[in-house]
Amino acid sequence: MSLNENWKNRSLAHVWHPCTQMKDHQWLPLVPVKSAEGVWLEDFEGKRYLDAVSSWWTNIFGHRHPHIVARLKEQLDQLDHVMLGGFTHEPVVTLSEKLCALAPKGLTRCFYADNGSSAVEVALKMAHHYWRNLGKPQKTRYISLSNGYHGETLGALAVSGTGLYRDSYTPLLMQPIQVLSPDCFDRSPGEAWEDHTRRRFRHMEEALERHAGEVAAVIVEPLVQCAGGMRMYHPIYLRLLREACTRHGVLLIADEIAVGFGRTGRMFASDWAGITPDLMCISKGLTSGTLPLAAVMSTDEIYQAFYDDYASYKAFLHSHSFTGNPLACTAALATLELFERSDVLAANRRSAAMMWAAMTELSSHRHVIDIRQQGMILAVELAKNPRKREEYPAAERRGLRVYQYGLEKGVLLRPLGNVVYLMPPYVITPEEIVTMCQTAIEGIDIATSEP
Ligand code: PMP
Repeated sequence: MSLNENWKNRSLAHVWHPCTQMKDHQWLPLVPVKSAEGVWLEDFEGKRYLDAVSSWWTNIFGHRHPHIVARLKEQLDQLDHVMLGGFTHEPVVTLSEKLCALAPKGLTRCFYADNGSSAVEVALKMAHHYWRNLGKPQKTRYISLSNGYHGETLGALAVSGTGLYRDSYTPLLMQPIQVLSPDCFDRSPGEAWEDHTRRRFRHMEEALERHAGEVAAVIVEPLVQCAGGMRMYHPIYLRLLREACTRHGVLLIADEIAVGFGRTGRMFASDWAGITPDLMCISKGLTSGTLPLAAVMSTDEIYQAFYDDYASYKAFLHSHSFTGNPLACTAALATLELFERSDVLAANRRSAAMMWAAMTELSSHRHVIDIRQQGMILAVELAKNPRKREEYPAAERRGLRVYQYGLEKGVLLRPLGNVVYLMPPYVITPEEIVTMCQTAIEGIDIATSEP
């Protein structure tokens, strides 16, 4: 038995893989990875795969970046872990200072968690608790967007609008007020993104007018609804939303977990609108995908609402064992140092332009209904009949065929339904962009050529 087969079989005997119908692996090969470097993953027999999705959007500076690896090795010799309740340490202090300097102005406090979903739970709890501490305990609900995604834990799933992940658990979930997303895929022919986005804001304004008294916060993914198929909208929505939340006395939670750290072309997607959310969730790119870490950044106003004598019982008594883990914080610090060392966003603009140039030939493809891009995210949406806006039935799993073709050719593409997207590590070279894009185009041709 080959080395690859050996690891596949052993994995399938005991590992329950995430987001997977395990039965698919009777025919869909599991890919065992032995090592990784830069944009490349390598299996046990030397076959390489270009990680065009940054391993679930986390890995912004490539795998095993030498600077991050060196900083982690040093940190391992110094301090592995210590609980953050009652104790503190150098990596968490320095990281918090740097994050507050980098984040939209006014976000001055960092509360840590160890994954994106937990950060969303923290933000949701904090928002309600803030109002409770201010004497408004009736603010128990949340407004979220259709097609949004905020994670898999029950609170985060409740405010998500992606039926595929949510529907089986509906009876367990709190009921948010769901507002129609500003998604520009839905715009009328010829309509400008900004006009469509402004028009859609009416739904949010109405929801706020009706429900502000019972709503603690609005939660959105700024600019790109990633898990919902890389659907995008104009930053004007965030400006209008910021203004309306303040006017209605409702907090604004920006879930920057997927779009933070330069992914959309600015450090944070909220920067495109020049706004400061009340709470901002970050994770994924925070450690460049090296170790799990997440944070919720808050304004001082929120922080002060919890600051009182113990007996007031206003404290935020939320904890995770690995809160602010020193190794994860060091990986995050090393990541921020890489942003300080060179103009990453300028380099990304060049790579993003190359990706666009390579993919635009698909605009005349008979099964491509939309190509959209925001910074280092480029998405191609497939459709059975674009002119009639007729979708491919989900059961045909066209995207999966692109995935299979990509694996054959050594490119990891993992479409979301009928949306094939490119979200590579920022260190991708021009030659690698060509390989990635050509493979995606060929995969799309093959997946759409069958009846
Ligand atoms: N929010 C957004 C916008 C995300 O894209 C994700 C993960 N895809 C999450 C939250 C959840 O993060 P995690 O998978 O680390 O729990």
